[in-house]
Amino acid sequence: MRIDVLSLFPDMYTGVLEQSILKKAAESEAFSCHITNFRDYADNKHQRVDDYTYGGGAGMLLMPQPIFDAVEAVQKTSEAKPRVIMMTPQGTPYNQNYAEDLAKEEHLIFLCGHYEGFDERIRESIVTDEISIGDYVLTGGELASMVVIDSVVRLLPGVLGNEVSADTDSFSNGLLEHPQYTRPADFRGMKVPDVLLSGNHKLIEEWRHKESLRRTLLRRPDLLESRVLSDKEKEWLKE
Ligand code: SAM
Repeated sequence: MRIDVLSLFPDMYTGVLEQSILKKAAESEAFSCHITNFRDYADNKHQRVDDYTYGGGAGMLLMPQPIFDAVEAVQKTSEAKPRVIMMTPQGTPYNQNYAEDLAKEEHLIFLCGHYEGFDERIRESIVTDEISIGDYVLTGGELASMVVIDSVVRLLPGVLGNEVSADTDSFSNGLLEHPQYTRPADFRGMKVPDVLLSGNHKLIEEWRHKESLRRTLLRRPDLLESRVLSDKEKEWLKE
C-alpha cells in the first residue's frame, strides 16, 4: 500500500513511522509513506496557506489552492485511484470496520487540517472520505491520521508476525477480546483460570468466546445491539 500524507507539520511523523511494527512493515515494503508539506504548493509570494473566513469569525482557514494542487500532484503519480481522506472532527466516526475497508486499498491520501480547518470547497470537490477519531477536537489532523495509518497498516498481509492475532483482536468479530494471561500461572495468589491450563482446546475456545461475550455485554453493550446471537450465546448471556 502507498500512503501519502499532506501536512503542514511533516516532522510530527518522524519517529512514529520509524518504530516497531510500522518500521518493519515499511522495511518489508508492505507499505510506503510519503509526507508532503502542502505549503510547498502555495502559489503566493509568502507561501501562505491560510486566510480569514468570509463573514468574519475567529481563526484562520486553510485555503483551497495549495491543497488542490498538492492532491492533484500526488494523483498524477498514482496508478491507483486513491481515496482522499480528510481528517476532521465532523467526519464519520472511525472504527475497526473502517480500518478493514481502507486496508483493501492500494493508495490512500490523508489531508491533515490545522487552525480552524478547511475551506468547504476542499470537502466538496476532492475528498472521498471524512474521518473523525472521536468526539473531541485536536489542534491538527496529524495525530488523527497516525491513528488511522497505524490501524490500517497492521491489517496489511504479513505485517503482524502472526496473522491470527488481528483476527482475534477486539472488534474484528464484533466483540471485545477475552481476558488473556501469561506466565506465571500463579502471581501473588492471583491464579490463571484452570481451563486455560487444561490443554483442552475445545473447552478453551468455548471459555474465550463466553468471556468475550460477557466482557462486551459489561463494557460495550452497544456492540451487541446489531449482533445476531447464536443459541449458545443467548444461553451464556442468561447465566
Ligand atoms: N473548526 C473545526 C471544527 O470545529 O470542526 C476544528 C478544526 S481543528 C482545531 C484542526 C484540525 O484538526 C482539523 O481540520 C482536523 O484535521 C484535525 N482534527 C481535530 N479533531 C479531530 C478529530 N476528532 N478527528 C480527526 N481530525 C481532527
